[in-house]
Amino acid sequence: MNHLLTRLRKALLIWLDNKHHQSPMDGEDVRRIDLIRILPFIFLHVMCLGVLVVGVSWFAVLFALFTYLIRMFAITAFYHRYFAHRAFRTSRPVQFLFAMLGATATQRGALWWAAHHRTHHRHSDTEHDPHTPQQGFFWSHMGWFLSRKHVHTEADSIPDLMRYPELRWLDRFDLLMPVLFATGIFLLGGWLETAAPQLGTSAGQLLIWGYFISTVVLIHVTLMINSLAHVCGRRRYATPDHSRNNWLLALLTLGEGWHNNHHHYPGSARQGFYWWEIDISFYLLKLMSWLGLVSDLKPVPAAIRENRGVMRRRRNKH
Ligand SMILES: [Zn+2]
Ligand SMILES: [Zn+2]
Repeated sequence: MNHLLTRLRKALLIWLDNKHHQSPMDGEDVRRIDLIRILPFIFLHVMCLGVLVVGVSWFAVLFALFTYLIRMFAITAFYHRYFAHRAFRTSRPVQFLFAMLGATATQRGALWWAAHHRTHHRHSDTEHDPHTPQQGFFWSHMGWFLSRKHVHTEADSIPDLMRYPELRWLDRFDLLMPVLFATGIFLLGGWLETAAPQLGTSAGQLLIWGYFISTVVLIHVTLMINSLAHVCGRRRYATPDHSRNNWLLALLTLGEGWHNNHHHYPGSARQGFYWWEIDISFYLLKLMSWLGLVSDLKPVPAAIRENRGVMRRRRNKH
């Protein structure tokens, strides 16, 4: 019993402050699913069952769709295209704003996310890839981040991002933004219950739909890019990995499903390389560039777009 309490106390410290996490010990099976990592993940899923208590309203469903879309945009356009690939430029306040919004998606901090993603591109579908389906579909979808192997932020992969103390702070306390986001939704629901009773929503209902259901769907759809987009779909380019283009995933992820395109030329702000490849994140980035919020969106050079052969692996030096 004492042992269990000590473990739970340790877990709580780690959840609240990543500083308390210790590196795996030599000889430890680092690929084993870690109880400390999986408990919050199970909690997110179980809370979705709260829908049986709070019920549903049109407003709650639309609100959940809204929180899904804005956070998916923060993940795809900023966590992925900006932080991991530096595919455009932006100001420090906008960078921080989208790092905060991305963190509410409950996929850890922007630094952790970008560092692992850069490793994925350096070693795609080899034994050093953090989440290749070559090591099992479950591993590529969830096992990799629920194990002890990938808990740490690999600072060596992101020297350009480690310069910002505000990003390091968000990464260290990565539970803070999800908690604030969920609390804000709960309070909004409570206020709407009295201020606009015709919407038929409540604090609990808005929390379950706008945070828990929306977040669980958002997490799994994002994870599908690591798992399904390396298994299902078409390969336009003979990249040295197994990446695929998948139109359905592209719609659900606001453009990330053009994953074979992306592995062919990861440096572009655009992943749908042709007009018929819908890439909503890119359209929104374009809109933001007209408003002066982002700039220097990196295009896909036509010669690279038309070259269907094998591209040299990028960033071999890391
Ligand atoms: Zn990939
Ligand atoms: Zn990428």
